[in-house]
Amino acid sequence: MVTTQPTASHFINGDYVEDTAGEVIDVIYPATGEKIAQVHAATPAVIEQALESADAAQKEWARWSGTERGRVLRRAADIIRERNRALSILETYDTGKALQETLYADATSGADALEYFGGLAGSLTGEHIQLGADFAYTKRVPLGVCVGIGAWNYPTQIACWKGAPALACGNAMIFKPSETTPLCALKIAEILVEAGLPAGLFNVVQGMGAVGAALVEDPRVAKVSLTGSVPTGKKVYAAAAAHMKHATMELGGKSPLVIFDDANVENAVSGAMLANMYSTGQVCSNGTRVFVQKGVKDAFLKRFEERCAAIKLGDPLDEETHLGPMVSDAQINIVLDYIAKGKAEGATLICGGERLERDGFYVAPTVFADVTDGMTIAREEIFGPVMAVLDFDDEDEVIARANDTPYGLSAGVFTNDITRAHRVVDQLEAGTCWINTYNLAPVEVPFGGVKASGVGRENAKAAIEHYSEIKSVYVGMTPVDSAY
Ligand code: NAD
Repeated sequence: MVTTQPTASHFINGDYVEDTAGEVIDVIYPATGEKIAQVHAATPAVIEQALESADAAQKEWARWSGTERGRVLRRAADIIRERNRALSILETYDTGKALQETLYADATSGADALEYFGGLAGSLTGEHIQLGADFAYTKRVPLGVCVGIGAWNYPTQIACWKGAPALACGNAMIFKPSETTPLCALKIAEILVEAGLPAGLFNVVQGMGAVGAALVEDPRVAKVSLTGSVPTGKKVYAAAAAHMKHATMELGGKSPLVIFDDANVENAVSGAMLANMYSTGQVCSNGTRVFVQKGVKDAFLKRFEERCAAIKLGDPLDEETHLGPMVSDAQINIVLDYIAKGKAEGATLICGGERLERDGFYVAPTVFADVTDGMTIAREEIFGPVMAVLDFDDEDEVIARANDTPYGLSAGVFTNDITRAHRVVDQLEAGTCWINTYNLAPVEVPFGGVKASGVGRENAKAAIEHYSEIKSVYVGMTPVDSAY
């Protein structure tokens, strides 16, 4: 049984905390548009409580051995897996994403992150550098209090992708979920404490951007990791830079997916489906500019349309449903506006293109063909189930066009020519590339963007670099050699 109204709005110092003086944030179930819960934005008093408890708890946590810290994270991963169904249902209430997806991709990937970084925690070491008789050694030390700020599309996963490496390295984390999806991170905080995490090390505070900004400004905070849009990223990165703080920015994209004539069409259609429709199109790495070589265009579009018609759109809690609604009224209106621009600017609508006449924020899976590089739908991130298909003739041309964007989060190539696959990927400006697949982001592989899509990397050993720093210690073994 899932209760959508949380015990209280915030989770601080090991327990739920409420302050009703904070602005009310309604939690809307995207499938019906109904209010299912409410939380209050953090007041300055709540923010102070979160900072004080994190600051105090971190110092002791940093003294634990990595193995001890890792044990807590791995225990939390086990609890998450045991409660996967309840957590997945909550994720579906929070986001509207189909339960068919959330059962496999959300709490489970959060558990993967806790397990992976829990396993790594005991092996975080420095190095020894011999310097004749003298020597030096390095220590990998935590940063201190880290702030995580989340987007609304993967509330459980984002909390864990930031929390797990931060805690493994000996930091404390204060996590501010998106105001659109405030529920899931509270459950992760509860589970971490149940698993033995000392109070204060993973605090959740609710609020709009101003709460995130207040946290980033505070001198006790050493680092911020944001998942969000590029405009927000620029503001948060600038605020961090003003205080010389560490920053990881996981931002938006307009990623290219290139399908060559020699690709297996059915496989390419499957890849393009995942690249555009998964999570109702609300994935940062989506391959929304689908470049299809002219020889395969008709076959590709025909199969894509057929398979789109078979997509089951509807009640996200029904496990037969493939796609649920958009996350919010605001987001569906953004998407409908882009669809209108696609039509007005002369793209050919192959299917979809409209809002469904039912409660909730449902838009039909939409495909535009004959899209050209200058059209708005080919340039701007839509963040909905809207695919733009662009034609191309040859390899050099498509690489230049694929890279002609300020973004650089991801890219994909479908081809059966192995040398071409690697040659093309080598030239694509993106943090993550896929060959003959799309949108897989396991915790073992670094994830993040180049160009405007961000700085830093999440996941894998790479994330350790972003939640710890190196301290060098020089040891003199002989009398000091001073000339004066
Ligand atoms: P958003 O930028 O509107 O908000 C993200 C978060 O930042 C929210 O929690 C918001 O409250 C907070 N925020 C806003 N202004 C702030 C400020 N001045 N200071 C501190 N915090 C502030 O993004 P969104 O609409 O929630 O999410 C969608 C965007 O996120 C898309 O652009 C998508 O591509 C991106 N995204 C990126 C990744 C990735 O890993 N690269 C993953 C998921 C989503």
